[in-house]
Amino acid sequence: MSSVIETRNPATGEALPPVDATPVDAIAGVVAAAAKAQREWAERPFEARAEVAERFVAKVREPAIAEALASAITTEMGKPLRYARSEVANIQSRTLAFIDRARTACADEVGTEGGIEVTTQWRPLGIVAVIAPWNFPVSTPNNLVMSALLTGNAAVLKPSEYTPRCGALYHEALAGLVPEGLFGLVQGGGEVGRGLVEADLDMVAFTGSIATGQAIMRSAAGGMKRLVLELGGKDPMIVLPGADVEAAAAFAVRNSLINSGQVCVSTERVFVHVDLEAEFVARVQAEVAKLRVGDPRAEDTDLGPMANAAQRQLVLDQLEDARARGAEVLVAGESHGPGYWLAPSVVRGVADDMRIATEETFGPVVSLSRFADADEVVRRANATDYGLGASVWGPEVDSKAVADRLEAGMIGINRGLSAAAGAPWVGWKLSGFGYSRSAAGMRNFMQPRTHARTVG
Ligand code: NAD
Repeated sequence: MSSVIETRNPATGEALPPVDATPVDAIAGVVAAAAKAQREWAERPFEARAEVAERFVAKVREPAIAEALASAITTEMGKPLRYARSEVANIQSRTLAFIDRARTACADEVGTEGGIEVTTQWRPLGIVAVIAPWNFPVSTPNNLVMSALLTGNAAVLKPSEYTPRCGALYHEALAGLVPEGLFGLVQGGGEVGRGLVEADLDMVAFTGSIATGQAIMRSAAGGMKRLVLELGGKDPMIVLPGADVEAAAAFAVRNSLINSGQVCVSTERVFVHVDLEAEFVARVQAEVAKLRVGDPRAEDTDLGPMANAAQRQLVLDQLEDARARGAEVLVAGESHGPGYWLAPSVVRGVADDMRIATEETFGPVVSLSRFADADEVVRRANATDYGLGASVWGPEVDSKAVADRLEAGMIGINRGLSAAAGAPWVGWKLSGFGYSRSAAGMRNFMQPRTHARTVG
């Protein structure tokens, strides 16, 4: 039985034209077509695959295609158009960077020890399922699809059921450049995702929530499918004595609120040293007051609506819990509809056991607590199952010492975290394992095979 995916424009609440879902029993055919195409693709020299990726970059630079992608992002998940355009620009620059990293990853390595020479070949795994969330509906799929294809694999993408058009447009831009069937698309929700994980493929590259990541691990166990799991976060930001309060407050606001807080590496818990708190809080309030919340298609909009009703309700519930348990709401973001509007909130005096401190918020909230000494703040920052990102602000030496004690995969010092210079995009603890983007990350999409010979 065929079914459709129904979505709404988060800015207006209006129903968007439905998109056909892929019947679960049709997934095997998409995967079989990918398998057939992959054999020839894997045998192509690396530079031939790189050339296809370069043609893809040229294609998404075409204004009509770039604008169609950006517009779909805004329509389906409410991201302000100028940030949607940056997301599309991002896929161009990242793809080019990935080509260099994949070139390194695909190269054989030779070592000799005790008269034995061993060559390690890096071979593609085969078929990679890419299962994506809605918050960066074009760049997140691209990170994983490009990693798969450049390393000689086939890929089958399942976009989020909240952003099926973004997935379809991305697929359309790339699929025509690669051999037929090599890059497949299936559309639908969790059931289609589950069907894809259970199909006859070799790896699942997943970005999304911890609960879904755990479900995927269980389904993948039988076939020992390889996994890259990029999951949620509860990123701390620590503001130490001696920090540049103005810069830190501006960052706290920007990184808590950008994309309406719907970023896996959003700042979700700000810990400010007690001596700086008054000035910091005043600056945060002043920064928030400058933000323009409104029509995501207007050029000067900073924040649009939230992406969906369920996400907005979760944030409202956490804010209510914080308020009921004694946190001080300094800026109460108004919630209204139609559409899923929630203006930014600033909450102070957040205790470590409030829902807003323990659960991922993924919404437009600056959540503030204070601390008295470094040991205390390290303990509190680490007292979570999450371990994705973090940032530490203060004199360089002190910040580095605190950063060295944090259980987080990616940490920024007097700035946000970054995967620049080929660093991995990586989580710790329940924020995931396996990683991508770096040359070593590309090898998560590959199988090493060794040849040993005696060399005298
Ligand atoms: P989600 O886990 O609900 O859904 C993600 C994808 O998984 C969707 O395509 C969904 O249809 C699919 N899915 C659901 N159940 C499935 C199942 N049983 N088997 C296979 N697929 C299934 O996450 P979301 O709400 O779309 O995205 C938000 C989450 O993503 C947040 O937790 C956020 O932190 C995380 N995220 C992480 C990163 C990162 O790089 N670490 C980046 C972006 C988002």
